[in-house]
Amino acid sequence: MVPGARLVVLGKQGAGKGTQCVRLSHHYVVPHVSTGDMLRAAVKQGTPLGLKAKDQMERGELLGDGLIMDMVAERLGESDVRARGFVLDGCPRTVSQAERLASTLAPYDLDLVVDIEIHTTVVLRRLAARRVCVDCGANYSTSSPPLINWTCDVCGGEVIQREDDTEEAITRRLELYEHQTAPLIEWYTRRNQLVTVSGTGTPDAVTRRMVKVIEHRRGQKAGWPS
Ligand code: AMP
Repeated sequence: MVPGARLVVLGKQGAGKGTQCVRLSHHYVVPHVSTGDMLRAAVKQGTPLGLKAKDQMERGELLGDGLIMDMVAERLGESDVRARGFVLDGCPRTVSQAERLASTLAPYDLDLVVDIEIHTTVVLRRLAARRVCVDCGANYSTSSPPLINWTCDVCGGEVIQREDDTEEAITRRLELYEHQTAPLIEWYTRRNQLVTVSGTGTPDAVTRRMVKVIEHRRGQKAGWPS
């Protein structure tokens, strides 16, 4: 049985975070907990949380720490996560969220925080081409579309450009990343919990790099198909 994992993945939008989190969640057989996906589902279902979140998400603004961390704490309390762990995607985004996450997990700790590093020009190019499934969140791009007419290969949902993938909203999110999320890197570095990997190259190459640093940290050996 593959041991579970408690992982956080950081990286600016377009670094390939979503794709890598899905791959890590399969590799370690743990749930992929994505705050963006949870919020998009809430918006789609028109829940009170979704109604609160919609405008800010469309503008690319961060939602309040309390609201986000209540949602995350509830998810991390569920039995699948408690049994195996998680790959947390899109959270924490601020030092205050990281503090709340640490207290939610106590007495346990994260195995590792992996920061995927990539140049902003590469990110802007990738985001402009990004397309996602409205139902399951699967990622595509204009150069790698679904097989049939913008219909998701995984679930048959409609594949579209995200409303917050406009140039204006992307620029705002990258600015926010620099100002609010980058200090997290320092916060986790001080706690000796952070490892940085390069996000360039194929998705397989990036996954291999990530698994390698995670296994190195866990003092175990694991392979990733090449
Ligand atoms: P993402 O898919 O991770 O880029 O998230 C999409 C949007 O959801 C963000 O632009 C924010 O508006 C909101 N969001 C997701 N996660 C968080 C978080 N941890 N803190 C605040 N806002 C968030």
